[in-house]
Amino acid sequence: MDERTYTADATPGDTVTVAGWVHELRDLGGIAFLIVRDTSGKIQVKLEKDEMDEELVETGLDVARESVVKIVGDVKEEPRAPTGVEVVPTGIEVIAEAETQLPLDPSGKVDAELPTRLDNRTLDVRRDESKAIFEIRSEVLRAVREEFRSFGSTEITTPKIVATGTEGGTELFPITYFGEEAFMNQSPQLFKQLMVGSGLERVFEIGPIFRAEEHNTPRHLNEATSIDFESAFFDHTEAMDVCEAVTKAAYEAVAENCADELETLGIDDFEVPEEAFPRLTYEEAIERINATGELDEQLVWGDDLPTEGEHVLGQDVGEHYFITDWPSEIKPFYIKDHDDDETLSTGFDMMHPRMELVSGGQREHRFDHLVEGFEQQGLNPDEFEYYTKMFKYGMPPHAGWAIGGERLIMTMLGLDNIREAVLFPRDRQRLSP
Ligand code: ATP
Ligand code: MN
Repeated sequence: MDERTYTADATPGDTVTVAGWVHELRDLGGIAFLIVRDTSGKIQVKLEKDEMDEELVETGLDVARESVVKIVGDVKEEPRAPTGVEVVPTGIEVIAEAETQLPLDPSGKVDAELPTRLDNRTLDVRRDESKAIFEIRSEVLRAVREEFRSFGSTEITTPKIVATGTEGGTELFPITYFGEEAFMNQSPQLFKQLMVGSGLERVFEIGPIFRAEEHNTPRHLNEATSIDFESAFFDHTEAMDVCEAVTKAAYEAVAENCADELETLGIDDFEVPEEAFPRLTYEEAIERINATGELDEQLVWGDDLPTEGEHVLGQDVGEHYFITDWPSEIKPFYIKDHDDDETLSTGFDMMHPRMELVSGGQREHRFDHLVEGFEQQGLNPDEFEYYTKMFKYGMPPHAGWAIGGERLIMTMLGLDNIREAVLFPRDRQRLSP
């Protein structure tokens, strides 16, 4: 349909062909209005019962809501129309008829539960609010890519079918690969590290990660989008700087380019983080959590932060922040310890007041230490030989991180459930669509 005009571009004086969905029919008696919606907006189509061609008027009055129609007509100024213009039609064609009973109402007048919405995503993303979330998601990914590219990172993609998991464990989905057991990858961690030792040096990847975790929570998916970064000759503090810059770039882009979508979502206090994100050590973090007295039990050194602890600390800090210097024992083997204190790792998390967004750190690039780390974590280094052996051929010091794409969107837009930020979520109950 090359001659098609988007409704938002319909200019008084033009003769246009618009195509889209029947959003609404308003029948006022002698006159009726068909509201046609496309991706750019909505437009009013006027039907004058006694003045216009009878068949044309009838077609317009009979068409079921959400049917796809093509309208040819003249655009006129009309101050009383919702967008100030209307189409006076000379032709109405029903291209694809919709059933009169719909599983959910795209005009949003009748609320639908999340499972119904997810079962009918096509209809759901006709709703302005749902569409706005995915327009913003697209803008965030664009901005993040541009930010990475602006300081010389190369975009890579790494395999999602693997022989061994990144960290082993029970979080892996097994699959059958030509009669052999294989797994869906839980993280591009090992592959991105292999590439900092290549000629690329600084890389990023935006892609799926698969985790067979038991949680069925509002912030976990079994298939999520990971935004990964890794750079040669970076330490953990430099990696944190990039993490902060990328996060801010995502917020800035949305503030700049998604004003309409934010308005649709009713977000009138969207704030781009301006200040440097506070950096607390793990020790300070548990002290602050304990000081609130909100937890039933006091945290001690070596404890992972419970969800409740993340919440009270988030409330206390009130903005994005980092937690640094975690105990080595609760960070993965590939994270480097501090040179002057082996019990302390260079691992960091970046937090939104509501939840963890990022884990990162400087990596262990020394072959002997790396192999030792595998053994300490109960993993067989032989199974990871494809990875470890490259550390014998000149692996530079390096650091990086991963941010959960859906969590970034969820926290940015204040969504209650992470499933709002992914088109077709995979969770304990949901494998289709
Ligand atoms: P959590 O403790 O919150 O479950 P994690 O520490 O297991 O997360 P990491 O392995 O550190 O997760 O992964 C890096 C980032 O990827 C996380 O900070 C989070 O933003 C995102 N992420 C991890 N697992 C999931 C998941 N199941 N669903 C959505 N996002 C996830
Ligand atoms: Mn983590």
